[in-house]
Amino acid sequence: MTLAELDRRISECRACPRLVAWRESVAATRRAAFRDQEYWGRPVPGFGPGDARLAILGLAPAAHGGNRTGRIFTGDRSGDVLFAALHRAGLANQPTSVSRDDGLALRDTRIFAAVRCAPPDNKPTPEERDTCAPWLHREVELIRPTLRVVVALGAFAWAAWWPAFSRVYGHRPPSPRPPFGHGALARVSDDTPALLGCYHVSQQNTFTGRLTPTMLDAVFARAKELAGLA
Ligand code: SF4
Repeated sequence: MTLAELDRRISECRACPRLVAWRESVAATRRAAFRDQEYWGRPVPGFGPGDARLAILGLAPAAHGGNRTGRIFTGDRSGDVLFAALHRAGLANQPTSVSRDDGLALRDTRIFAAVRCAPPDNKPTPEERDTCAPWLHREVELIRPTLRVVVALGAFAWAAWWPAFSRVYGHRPPSPRPPFGHGALARVSDDTPALLGCYHVSQQNTFTGRLTPTMLDAVFARAKELAGLA
């Protein structure tokens, strides 16, 4: 299966009844500011080239961000912070991400989420997380030849990496699992991707100063080093 085929199949998935109902009801109701826009209202596939050396793993699309625009981290404040940082790091051709046709292109970087549909309160259930996991595993399998480092945005993504790691690379995850932290680094072996922790780019973290642009710059500088891009 090609990455394009995988993206198409993901965007047609209806495996989680609660999330299908939620994403579609948000798309039908809309936020007042976006009343005139047609919401995507479907699962949001990954974004970025198939020969990425660096991957960014998030939690799930935002109800009025990715679920509206159809592109991950696109059209909300989290994305504003993330893509500005990727642009400063030389991994994105522009600092903004507003719609699927805005001309944004990533270099050496693929972004995806552990759960592909927007969940109520940004909280997927464990069952939804596990139902969606095979999409992530297939995507990692496809970019495996070049993938060198995964930046996990938050503890949920950090935890979601290990089943993918074990499934795709056939290695047992470390036990006990390395704890998530901002700047935490987990390396199992030289022939598997390093996992680098970063606080999530949520407004809760960026508005309060828990995650600053300088901290993000440091994470992406480290990620580029680990990916052999520095
Ligand atoms: S969360 Fe994942 S598995 Fe569930 S419906 Fe969406 S794409 Fe399918």
